[in-house]
Amino acid sequence: MTKFTDLGLNEALLRAVADMGFETPSEVQEKTIPILLSKETDMVSLAQTGTGKTAAFGFPLIQKIDANSRTTQGLILSPTRELCLQITNELKNYSKYVSGLNIVAIYGGASINDQAKDIKRGAQIIVATPGRMKDMISRRMIDISKIAYCILDEADEMLNMGFYEDITEILSHSPKDKSTWLFSATMPKEVATIAKKFMNTPVEITVGTKNTGTKNVTHEYYTVNARDRYQALRRLADANPDIFSVVFCRTKRDTQKVAENLIEDGYNAAALHGDLSQNQRDLVMKSFRNRQIQMLVATDVAARGIDVDDITHVINYQLPDEIEIYTHRSGRTGRAGKNGVSMTIVSKSEVRKIRSIEKIIQQKFVAKDIPNGMGICEIQLFHLANSIKNTEINHDIDSYLPNIEEVLDGLSKEDLIKKVFSVEFSRFYSRYKNAKELNVSEGNQREDHADEDTTRYFLNVGSKDGFDWMSLKDFLRDLLNLGKDDVYRVDVKDSFSFFNTDTKHQELVLGIFEDFKLEGRHVNVEVSKDGGGKDRGNRRRRDDKSGFRKKRTDDKPSSGAFGDKGKRDYKSKDNSKFAGGGKRRSSDSKPQGTGGRRRRKS
Ligand code: ADP
Ligand code: MG
Repeated sequence: MTKFTDLGLNEALLRAVADMGFETPSEVQEKTIPILLSKETDMVSLAQTGTGKTAAFGFPLIQKIDANSRTTQGLILSPTRELCLQITNELKNYSKYVSGLNIVAIYGGASINDQAKDIKRGAQIIVATPGRMKDMISRRMIDISKIAYCILDEADEMLNMGFYEDITEILSHSPKDKSTWLFSATMPKEVATIAKKFMNTPVEITVGTKNTGTKNVTHEYYTVNARDRYQALRRLADANPDIFSVVFCRTKRDTQKVAENLIEDGYNAAALHGDLSQNQRDLVMKSFRNRQIQMLVATDVAARGIDVDDITHVINYQLPDEIEIYTHRSGRTGRAGKNGVSMTIVSKSEVRKIRSIEKIIQQKFVAKDIPNGMGICEIQLFHLANSIKNTEINHDIDSYLPNIEEVLDGLSKEDLIKKVFSVEFSRFYSRYKNAKELNVSEGNQREDHADEDTTRYFLNVGSKDGFDWMSLKDFLRDLLNLGKDDVYRVDVKDSFSFFNTDTKHQELVLGIFEDFKLEGRHVNVEVSKDGGGKDRGNRRRRDDKSGFRKKRTDDKPSSGAFGDKGKRDYKSKDNSKFAGGGKRRSSDSKPQGTGGRRRRKS
């Protein structure tokens, strides 16, 4: 087995390695370090998250830098401020026995003048995010004309985040004859393009198979009705009492809502998304690192760079829009040789996406059942038993013991146990005693919602009006003040759309749209004849198929799919329902940017 001493590292680095407790080099380190130390070359190195890439470039870089010169010699570009700070910290640890070496982090959201001062003092290595770096170069606060090494870390993420232009601009200020080392978890074609454009016959190193998930991550999926997603999430959390997890949602809004619901339901949870200030995000990350937060609910963008070891579970509350992103999500667990579980909650119609992801990660998912209520109670009881057993006795309570004993006098050990456990059991028992089965068999290809209790609607707005299925769904559930998954099967066409709700909401839906305007235009909903609910006696069926109603005065020329075929006069009540309702959006507000957040209990 290769040892750190076999790699060609100098004494200062080996001492630091020993201090950090690294025993053997990881595969990417073993393959990369000797090459980078022995020659000047460009390199493309592909390895999963958590495989130790920072040291793979950090050790050779530190060894090659001349710490006696104050010239900036190495530049590391990384996608986020979080990562930037982490890399800087790691490098400082690695170089603790190298005197005179200054490593400076450059990132947005902090004082540019302070950073410029740090640079002025002489920074041999700069770790930067592309945006701030470009800014500082253009203000002549940083000179990279003499760098010998440029490292593009997490290149795939940087390109994902749209930093291509910035990187190009930055590199144009660097010398041609430097060495460029690119590190990435995946090799999308954009990364290949970068490699071609900025590098000279790079040595290529791949650890594991390209684009595969980390080996020590188990992938599980749970099939439930879309509207049961949140309950499923809770059960997964309850069934894993020691969970330390990142929960991924697709949108900021869902992220916020899921986190709020979890907090309301008593979990140690928090949201991490782009609408938070940098300061708020820092606080959240700090609490997460300290384990004060057990469930960090995050968007994909905000979670980039979360680099916390020991995450036990990644939970995909929703699958990402692009399945490639799944790799990034699941890579947040199973780091540094530990095992991790990536759990995905899917509706039946999404099971096929699981199959596509399996192809990408070249690993099979395990189909699992959401634990039932009593199963969870049992898990919690055993968890309690074990934590009682493993708790170290706190002798500060000794002085209270006589009184406690007096209170408990006469109880047998058996009774005592029963009572202690009942305290905990009752909590979960009352939550779960009437809990229903959440699992849906995926073999059954029917839709999530049984035909009997679902109604399909036709709505005369569509993608022409700026909606896609997600924004329309958000818009509808906000407007209707319904829960997360109460509007479903949203299908947006050019100038009209379909969606479903449970039939019990039909009155509400038809009522709200009775006199509804969107940007001055009348919006009309009707129960769709096909593709949804069965005909019911109590349905308020409209006779014609008109999309827009031609209104007496202020109608714009019709552009709806069903135009003005139906000329029924349409009575406007000026949307009094919405005017000044406070809670509801005003009828002519924009569909996007859906107003204030309402909290609902599920
Ligand atoms: P990557 O950049 O590939 O995602 P990191 O460089 O952030 O991974 O390393 C992940 C974790 O593994 C860090 O906590 C790091 O300190 C640790 N680590 C790196 N190399 C080793 C090693 N050889 N032995 C043990 N732990 C290591
Ligand atoms: Mg890294």
